[in-house]
Amino acid sequence: MEAGGDNDKNQSFRERLNQSLSFSEWPVKELDGLKLTTSPLLSRQEGLVHAFTTRHGGSCPSPFDNFNLGRSVGDDKVKESALKNRQRLCRALKIDHDRLHVPGQVHSGHVVKVDGGSHDLAGVDGLATASKNLPVLLHFADCVPVMIYEPELKLLSIVHAGWRGTAQSIAVMGVERLKELGGDPRRMLAAVGPAIGTCCYPTGLDVVEKLMATVNPSGSPAVDKLARKGLVEERQGQPRPNLKAINALQLLNQGLAQVDVSEFCTSCRPELFYSHRQSGGITGRQGAVGCLV
Ligand SMILES: [Zn+2]
Repeated sequence: MEAGGDNDKNQSFRERLNQSLSFSEWPVKELDGLKLTTSPLLSRQEGLVHAFTTRHGGSCPSPFDNFNLGRSVGDDKVKESALKNRQRLCRALKIDHDRLHVPGQVHSGHVVKVDGGSHDLAGVDGLATASKNLPVLLHFADCVPVMIYEPELKLLSIVHAGWRGTAQSIAVMGVERLKELGGDPRRMLAAVGPAIGTCCYPTGLDVVEKLMATVNPSGSPAVDKLARKGLVEERQGQPRPNLKAINALQLLNQGLAQVDVSEFCTSCRPELFYSHRQSGGITGRQGAVGCLV
């Protein structure tokens, strides 16, 4: 069979691009005094418990108020309250805090498989697992949380994609690890959670170039033109890449059929989310947590 022509390829890229740009409204619900948001797509799946946390629920002092989960920010008091918040989150979701896996997160492209054995998770920005009752938690304050679920084999990956991780296609690394566990990208479903939006993310041209290369690995000039038009806004002479959509498109390019992207911009909603940019850099961390059950 002959491969489709350039026009066909451009057309299917255009469809994936449009899909990556169609964000959805995610509900915020209260659970045991916490406010959590969830992906409507992943909520419909059996075999997975998941949530994206907000600032609401704990008792962390300002500027980390209230439900900070990050233990790399603040003093000992903040770290102690983050531990309590993690325990509280696990209790609310009925998952086992003692088995919680939390990677170090250094803006790398490394995604590691975990099965409950001993794993060195320093320098790691994504986890993948086939193990039930092995909760996975990653932290965010503007960077993009990506959760990938394979419903047939029951596999889960969560990755941390700031611009550096996105430039290293860390979401694709999550897909790769799930493929190693037997997963098929065509069955995988993904959620791209609350993160900084185009509205609040002016950046340098060098960043844009690195990001654009990830959605157009063949370097086609026609695809590049389409991608830039859809994924980069230009305001006051500064480009603003759409990090959430770029991650979604990386996944759709891998053959995933559905990626559910939250419309929440963390920087636009400081009452609900921690934002590195909006806060000037000193703030807490919300979490993306998932567990196969
Ligand atoms: Zn915004």
